Amino acid sequence: MGRQLIHDLGSGSSNDLGSVEQFRPRTLARRLTGFLPREIKAIDAKIPLESRELWKRHEVKKFTDKDGFQAKFIQHVETTLARSLYNCDELAAYEAMSEAVRDNLVIDWNKTQQRVTARDPKRIYYLSLEFLMGRALDNALINLNTDDCDDPTSREMVEGALKQLGFRMEDVLEQEPDAGLGNGGLGRLAACFMDSLATGDYPAWGYGLRYQYGIFAQKIIDGHQVETPDYWLNIRNPWEIERSEIQVPVSYYGHVERPQGASTLSPCDWIGGEQVLAVPYDMPVPGFKTSTVNNLRMWSAKPTTEFDFSKFNAGDYSNSVADQQRAESITAVLYPNDNFRSGKELRLKQQYFWCCASLHDIVRRFKKSSGDWTNFPDRVAIQLNDTHPTLAILELQRILVDLERLDWHAAWSIVTRTFSYTNHTVMQEALEKWPVSLFGHLLPRHLEIVYDINWFFLKDVERKFPRDLELLSRVSIIEDGQESQIRMAYIAVVGSHKVNGVAELHSELIKTNLFQDFVDIYGLGKFTNVTNGITPRRWLKQANPRLAQLIAEKLNDPQDQYLLDMSRLTELATFADDPIFQQQWEEVKLYNKMRLADLLHRLNDGVDVIDRDYLNETLFDIQVKRIHEYKRQQLNIFGVIHRYLSMKDMLSNGAPFVKVANKFPRKVSIFGGKAAPGYFMAKLIIRLINAVADVINNDPDIEDLLKVVFIPDYNVSKAEVIIPACDISEHISTAGTEASGTSNMKFVMNGGLIIGTVDGANVEITREIGEENIFLFGTLAEHVEELRFKHRFHNKPLPSSLTKVFAALEAGVFSTENNAEFQPLVDATRRHGDHYLVSDDFDSYIAAQSLVDRCFHRDRSSWLRKSILSVANVGYFSSDRCVEEYAETIWNVEPVKKD
Ligand SMILES: *Cc1c(COP(=O)(O)O)cnc(C)c1O
Repeated sequence: MGRQLIHDLGSGSSNDLGSVEQFRPRTLARRLTGFLPREIKAIDAKIPLESRELWKRHEVKKFTDKDGFQAKFIQHVETTLARSLYNCDELAAYEAMSEAVRDNLVIDWNKTQQRVTARDPKRIYYLSLEFLMGRALDNALINLNTDDCDDPTSREMVEGALKQLGFRMEDVLEQEPDAGLGNGGLGRLAACFMDSLATGDYPAWGYGLRYQYGIFAQKIIDGHQVETPDYWLNIRNPWEIERSEIQVPVSYYGHVERPQGASTLSPCDWIGGEQVLAVPYDMPVPGFKTSTVNNLRMWSAKPTTEFDFSKFNAGDYSNSVADQQRAESITAVLYPNDNFRSGKELRLKQQYFWCCASLHDIVRRFKKSSGDWTNFPDRVAIQLNDTHPTLAILELQRILVDLERLDWHAAWSIVTRTFSYTNHTVMQEALEKWPVSLFGHLLPRHLEIVYDINWFFLKDVERKFPRDLELLSRVSIIEDGQESQIRMAYIAVVGSHKVNGVAELHSELIKTNLFQDFVDIYGLGKFTNVTNGITPRRWLKQANPRLAQLIAEKLNDPQDQYLLDMSRLTELATFADDPIFQQQWEEVKLYNKMRLADLLHRLNDGVDVIDRDYLNETLFDIQVKRIHEYKRQQLNIFGVIHRYLSMKDMLSNGAPFVKVANKFPRKVSIFGGKAAPGYFMAKLIIRLINAVADVINNDPDIEDLLKVVFIPDYNVSKAEVIIPACDISEHISTAGTEASGTSNMKFVMNGGLIIGTVDGANVEITREIGEENIFLFGTLAEHVEELRFKHRFHNKPLPSSLTKVFAALEAGVFSTENNAEFQPLVDATRRHGDHYLVSDDFDSYIAAQSLVDRCFHRDRSSWLRKSILSVANVGYFSSDRCVEEYAETIWNVEPVKKD
């Protein structure tokens, strides 16, 4: 084998980033950051004084002004891209600009890693199978460290510099593809956390997978969702640094060997049957107004350089190459399911690949500075974003027992003090389970470890609750049945010292339902809440520069310090009734509606669905999120149909148009979101929305009073345009199903009001902004089970309002294919138990909607007051607050500030 691998965890490299080679003066070209002080001393001693002085003299400098930026830009156009003034198009400008900005980031990133290594504090590792980062360039400009910059507003400076070079910033930024390595809220949460961790100077690394295909691109063809692959690495990615010198071998299959008579608790050899290599790609994550640049390490699968010589020698060259290529398939594609388990072997392979590589990387770094395993939980905190990284618990136990030869119980104590687990759902269909047979075939040693963990756990339970066999079977990690399954959430609970939900209501449901037995076993102290948050840098400053500017002016804060201390927004409350401020506020909203109208114009081949002359008089009602029955886009579109039918009824009963317009003033209902490719009902909902849009938008009777728009391919960069334009957004999940929601926070931060159920973080949003500033409706979580029961066994009748909607659907008013096209959506409510309580909540939803209409159209001043007060009190939902809570109550880590 050509390269030395890091199988031997004992032989750590001296480079904190994981170079496998020992330091040799001649290999200075390798990346050299993150050295311990004693290592630097030793290295220094070996380098001739002259070299050291040269190095100092040629220190790489960041650009700090327009001129410096322009020089870097041109240099990258001409050398990195090998282009010139004459063939530098917008894509080239994006690339050159990114390289220039990246250079600045990398300089600070090196210093950050060196600083952290020297101080050697307790580190945070955030394990997430998804990081929905979106675009990097604009964010990097906002977070550009301007310590040494004359111009405090780095983004404006670069914008001006770019203009002089002949480019419009907006057009250049548009060239960047989204890094869509996530499905929805969970992946975006991880991205917001990375931003806040860097901003708070926390020594934190993210670990994820570098999928070659991110979340699919959604096209709408004849009203249907069509998925196309997102080959996002098509254009060179300037935001990643390949570390091909680091290779972690990962094994699968094979068998376990141990001395005769030895128990599974003692060290053994797992002889893997298939091996691949994990190669990391590092992405710098800059903080806001700090020189801290953290690392997001994403693993990519490569074949081992070991070749199947038996096949090769047998003349089967192409098959032996094909085998190798299979390795790459491990990180080829992100699974496109949101809140739904997939159960595919390749998914489990991905999970192990990522957990194994990350754990070995973490352990190697730990061993560089400490040889004492009992210290490990004081040096390392590992946060599990949902159960996807649960295998990391098993892998650490395997490393400690099999490779480090610690006693089983000593090892387990280290493991449980290291990990903590964030639960993201209580819905059964989303909870991960793996058939024992599949699991044991792929990971034979890990299955033994699962059995042993379960054995000792159940023994403890039995000691505490003697002879309660029911309890033992309920909490067993192994679920018995036709096919035994491993309950991953239970491993995560048993293997962690803290388990948190992501909003108060959700954290309560975890304690009273999902993990009720575990509360009895461990006590309440293990279970906690950390309400989700979002980063105000991306979701206010970047997405809504006009509003950010108005706020900065009003707070007399030209340096945008409020973005670090969002409690300062409360000062805005003083101006909630100020007519001049209200007018400015409204003008910003109008500008943002125009921006969204432009986007829709582009997406709709140059046709305007919304009348641009009436943007301020049109209520923008928006529901953008993954399409899911529990999120109830069907409730929304049924409501739209109801509104349309009511308008038509009035007209056909001879009501004058003004009367109709008075009752149903101008409104556009905007939808966006992807459905999992295999989720029939979600795709049918998309189909229905588009079918309804077709009828309503082309009905001359109602003129332009009501429009329906489905925005294709909802993603982070579209969200940044859509959300600031919103008057009212819909967060209408069946109570108890949405763990938190984060787009609710994004909308409120942008002055949009909410129509919503008492679910997820809507509860805390209401508490923060005041119940007079939110439109709540619907069944409470505590009544959901009872209503479901009534539907199943007592054939609960539908409200007449919904009956009318269903009659229209069944009459084919919106059908283009056949009249039964939408029957499954009708039947889910009318015949199959209405699991999501659409019928129960329909009338209160309609009532809440008419209240929204009245508030928006009859008393704009009080509407604007609500909007201003919402923003004034949204500070709590900054992800800065959120990571601080994790740091203090779960991780026990401190920031590393620059001296
Ligand atoms: C914030 C965000 C989500 C999460 O939306 P919810 O309404 O909280 O489910 C999903 N997708 C994208 C692109 C987002 O930015």
